[in-house]
Amino acid sequence: MNSSSMADYLISGGTGYVPEDGLTAQQLFANADGLTYNDFLILPGFIDFIADEVDLTSALTRKITLKTPLISSPMDTVTEADMAIAMALMGGIGFIHHNCTPEFQANEVRKVKKFEQGFITDPVVLSPSHTVGDVLEAKMRHGFSGIPITAAGTMGSKLVGIVTSRDIDFLAEKDHTTLLSEVMTPRIELVVAPAGVTLKEANEILQRSKKGKLPIVNDRDELVAIIARTDLKKNRDYPLASKDSHKQLLCGAAVGTREDDKYRLDLLTQAGADVIVLDSSQGNSVYQIAMVHYIKQKYPHLQVIGGNVVTAAQAKNLIDAGVDGLRVGMGCGSICITQEVMACGRPQGTAVYRVAEYARRFGVPVIADGGIQTVGHVVKALALGASTVMMGSLLAATTEAPGEYFFSDGVRLKKYRGMGSLDAMEKSSSSQKRYFSEGDKVKIAQGVSGSIQDKGSIQKFVPYLIAGIQHGCQDIGARSLSVLRSMMYSGELKFEKRTMSAQIEGGVHGLHSYTFLPCK
Ligand code: IMP
Repeated sequence: MNSSSMADYLISGGTGYVPEDGLTAQQLFANADGLTYNDFLILPGFIDFIADEVDLTSALTRKITLKTPLISSPMDTVTEADMAIAMALMGGIGFIHHNCTPEFQANEVRKVKKFEQGFITDPVVLSPSHTVGDVLEAKMRHGFSGIPITAAGTMGSKLVGIVTSRDIDFLAEKDHTTLLSEVMTPRIELVVAPAGVTLKEANEILQRSKKGKLPIVNDRDELVAIIARTDLKKNRDYPLASKDSHKQLLCGAAVGTREDDKYRLDLLTQAGADVIVLDSSQGNSVYQIAMVHYIKQKYPHLQVIGGNVVTAAQAKNLIDAGVDGLRVGMGCGSICITQEVMACGRPQGTAVYRVAEYARRFGVPVIADGGIQTVGHVVKALALGASTVMMGSLLAATTEAPGEYFFSDGVRLKKYRGMGSLDAMEKSSSSQKRYFSEGDKVKIAQGVSGSIQDKGSIQKFVPYLIAGIQHGCQDIGARSLSVLRSMMYSGELKFEKRTMSAQIEGGVHGLHSYTFLPCK
């Protein structure tokens, strides 16, 4: 049967009546059992489009919409500037953690807001009175040697030259003390570009000049950025990138709810943060409600996400206070021991469904935060009403996550820790505030600290997640995330509970061994 006669056949009723099958979301959550993502499946629908066409546009807050519904968590082993830049380039967003000084956090936000693809704004810079030995040391640490030389040896100072391998390669060992002023290529011989040049124009200048580095200077001849030929080759298009009205990448940041967080908030807004998440494991508190009122009064245009919550009653108080989004999850995170220690929490499937179902009446989008182990979990969270999904462990140990790699038993690892782990709480009091424990004599850990195997760059992993979500939606028969949500609320989307043996059947089984490479 060709596709048009197939369509006619279906429209005319095909073979007729099909009995009801599966449960609506309302029926799935009708009794009081809390369900995790693993406790249910979505029944497949009808496919009449290709996966690539599925539109993943979704709201982060009342006023911010993302093309990719993926968020990196404000944790000190997950999101600093590198992660937030990469997430925003791929259509999601990162929230810079606050387990650091307000100045450090604001500076990370500034790096994201100032980021221009291909333009390096914080390169290694030396002065004419540095030596060849300094260049060799920088080369050893950073793996390159094309170093701009400015009068003061810093960015923003007058450009006076550049030192490349060619300038120093033939110097003898003893010449390491030679001053750079003697070996550098002087300013007069350099090809430079003016600040404000587009990447395309800069690329053309570099091609013509056949140089490896192109310094960008302002009208006072001060160095503001450089562009490297090697980076230009790596540059790619990011059609989904999350940007503000000035075409700067979107950036989020986390703050607590205590008096001194108001100073942090000021620095973050000055740095250009677009959205603030109030970082608390239990968001339904007088402190958080007061902080929402304070922010909304002082910065009416700043988007504020409240949380964490897992019940409609908790959500109500924060929505009444004026939040623009809600973060949902308590006890489901991979590093989390909250449910065991505090006896409070909720299985994440139920938490997402209950809060999203309530919050949508007020136009407040919901972030499903924590417990995401697979791309299937992302699809399930979105199918239960979440607009976006926040991840910690899935993005930890990637190139863009903070921290150095280390080896243990021959395996390359990076640290990943809960913000309520003793380890994180010892670093700064911000983490203690998230767990209401900064004044306690005895610190109660609500998280653990561990390590995760190197996952490579999120430049590969996030596209895999995006394609996976699109394929999940295709199987369901939803062309977009808004269609997916309306299918769920109308009862068209059908679910089924999964017994323990169904879960075993749905996983890999019966093999002696196997390999799993999430993406290539
Ligand atoms: P994951 O994606 O399952 O690793 O969960 C990440 C989420 O766990 C974060 O976004 C936080 O909401 C939550 N979280 C972070 N640190 C802790 C902790 O120490 N205890 C409990 N939950 C945490």
